[in-house]
Amino acid sequence: MSFSKSVYKYCIDTQFNLIYNIDSTTVLRGIFKNLNRNSQFQRLSLIHHIQRTMAATGNKFFVGGNWKLNGTRESIEALVNTYNNGGKFPSSVEVVVAPTALHIGYVQSKMRPDVAMCAQNVSSDSGFGALTGELTADLFKAWGINWTIAGHSERRRRKQIRGLGHDEESNSVAKKTKHALNCGMKVIVCIGETLADREAGTTLNVCFEQLTFIKETISVEEWARIVIAYEPVWAIGTGLSASPEQAQEVHASLRRWLLTNLNSEVASATRIIYGGSVKPTNASALIACPDIDGFLVGGCSLKSDFMEIINCCPPEWDSTARSELGKRAANDIQSIGADGKKSKQ
Ligand code: PEP
Repeated sequence: MSFSKSVYKYCIDTQFNLIYNIDSTTVLRGIFKNLNRNSQFQRLSLIHHIQRTMAATGNKFFVGGNWKLNGTRESIEALVNTYNNGGKFPSSVEVVVAPTALHIGYVQSKMRPDVAMCAQNVSSDSGFGALTGELTADLFKAWGINWTIAGHSERRRRKQIRGLGHDEESNSVAKKTKHALNCGMKVIVCIGETLADREAGTTLNVCFEQLTFIKETISVEEWARIVIAYEPVWAIGTGLSASPEQAQEVHASLRRWLLTNLNSEVASATRIIYGGSVKPTNASALIACPDIDGFLVGGCSLKSDFMEIINCCPPEWDSTARSELGKRAANDIQSIGADGKKSKQ
């Protein structure tokens, strides 16, 4: 373990109760005040060490394409060709796509090998057998599919938006996440607030509640196979993306939630990706934010724009450059309340 990581872990381990539910940077300033009253410089450099560790999530960006319910035989074939002819991807990026369950076997057999397949959803049932119409994680895994999305807002809001069946609830999302993990799959867990939530100032409460169901269902070790997709509902398929500042604020708070509710390893290793009208024109600014580790892309994953978005990711995971941004963002992060609003400085 590196020096900064071990210092950080020590602080978290020894001060865990203090840190719980309190802004970590503020608390860490308190810790270092006690550790070394005389040297402001040493305290600040240790805090910066810690912030750098926090920014150094994983070692690859993550870009997922959600093809949703799209694809004739011809259009799927053409789309696969677009991907296959899309040039080399940066080695710093992990790429997955989620075609419909109907197309996934075909796409898997034709797609370039550096794009992994992902289910758009799995059943909250598990196993095989008398489950007519269900598609379980066990089934996908048996067919070599190693990823699934869980809790996409179009499923969480089936009834509200389309008047169909029922809205998928967070406990079902957690249950299917657990089944998928049990089968050895990895899961992109989607969370995010509606416009009404944002206007009511409850963005973070909504996101934290959705994550809490996952936390209560899976083990700490299993977070290594989770990617969190923060997807504000008001930004999905609307052309209206969250600004980099808005997205970064939430991502930083989600990372702090991981820190306070799980541990420093999970907080630093979990990739938190942004979804909601990502396109080539906004991807670079979003990916430059220290806590944005990639994207979940809907509309633009159905065209060559997806390759452009992938190429917006830096060619290397540059933790030094990202930490500089992290330092600049630290003041912002400290000023966000549990209601998701920024307090006046
Ligand atoms: C999505 O479906 O997850 C999504 C983010 O869609 P879009 O990029 O079209 O907003």
